[in-house]
Amino acid sequence: MTYTISLIRGDGIGPEITEAALKVLEATGLAIEWEEVLLGEEAKKKYDHPFPDHSLEILKKNRVALKGPLIVHKGSEPVMIKHGKEMMAHPSINSAIRRELDCFANVRPIKSFPGLPTRYPPIDIVILREVTEDLYSGLEHQVEDGVAQAIKLTTRKACERITHFAFQYAKKYGRKRVTLGHKANVLSLTDGLFLKTAKEIAKKYPEIQFDDLMIDALCFQLIRDPTAFDLLLLSNQYGDILSDLCAGLVGSLGLAPGGNFGEECSVFEASHGAAPDIAGKKIANPLALILSASLMLNYLGESDLSQKIENGVAQLLQERRVLTPDLEGSSTTDDVASELVRILSC
Ligand code: ATP
Repeated sequence: MTYTISLIRGDGIGPEITEAALKVLEATGLAIEWEEVLLGEEAKKKYDHPFPDHSLEILKKNRVALKGPLIVHKGSEPVMIKHGKEMMAHPSINSAIRRELDCFANVRPIKSFPGLPTRYPPIDIVILREVTEDLYSGLEHQVEDGVAQAIKLTTRKACERITHFAFQYAKKYGRKRVTLGHKANVLSLTDGLFLKTAKEIAKKYPEIQFDDLMIDALCFQLIRDPTAFDLLLLSNQYGDILSDLCAGLVGSLGLAPGGNFGEECSVFEASHGAAPDIAGKKIANPLALILSASLMLNYLGESDLSQKIENGVAQLLQERRVLTPDLEGSSTTDDVASELVRILSC
């Protein structure tokens, strides 16, 4: 069987790490036909829009995509997409992709790999981030000169579906506990709604433990003892921040993969951004995208190949011979991909 999958090479380090991931996927022997989708900076250059209509059509048609990171410039304009007569504003191109495909659940497994020195004992946490609402709803206004406002949108419908997703994910992957991070003491209507909804839904899954913590207390507890946590359920902005925090706990942003899931489509991408500071230097760590590709294979039902890639990455990190500078190595992005291909072929 041949899979047809959309490929977004991305900006910054995107093309370099995507090339590495393609090389590793090819080594698995799986038949994949890639359909390239132009988005972000390259699409802006060619079509004068970061998210052209035909790119969205391809993503919807193929349903599964592997995505390199896309640059989000500070202070850039929202991405506007036409919906009939209305225009919908998305705060960034990354957010636009998730929201246009209704990929509401962003799953980011954060795992320590033996052999990599970190400050903490082995960590195995899943971050589940709702990615269609909250402060990244695209509703940001300049009220007047010197006064600006962003709306933190929270709906019961979105809280319900992400909470059900959390418990179903926990059941499927043997997670024992779901912890909701929020600030419901201050944001009583928005975070309060998420907390109330999650508590109600938790009763339907008595086999999974449910608890909640204020987001500040959760940060403190994570730094003190990250091994105490299992699956973290978070709204959009808290999930964004805690993803980087947890990636730091296991040693590098270059090790944090991710997948975005909806009813119809899914998009697999690393947690990190386009890292323009190191773009073109051939030193970007490709492992987060390679591990995202492994999540993609698992989603496609190719669990043996998915596990093979994850084991290969674990071996590469254990051996510590071929690592990029973020992991205190001196190898290039391509060296890492070639070494992984060698390990997979043994
Ligand atoms: P975004 O807002 O899109 O997440 P950002 O600018 O906050 O982007 P990143 O692009 O993720 O952040 O980069 C943060 C830091 O981590 C940068 O110094 C970057 O070089 C480094 N970094 C990110 N990804 C990698 C990687 N794959 N390999 C090595 N270093 C990386």
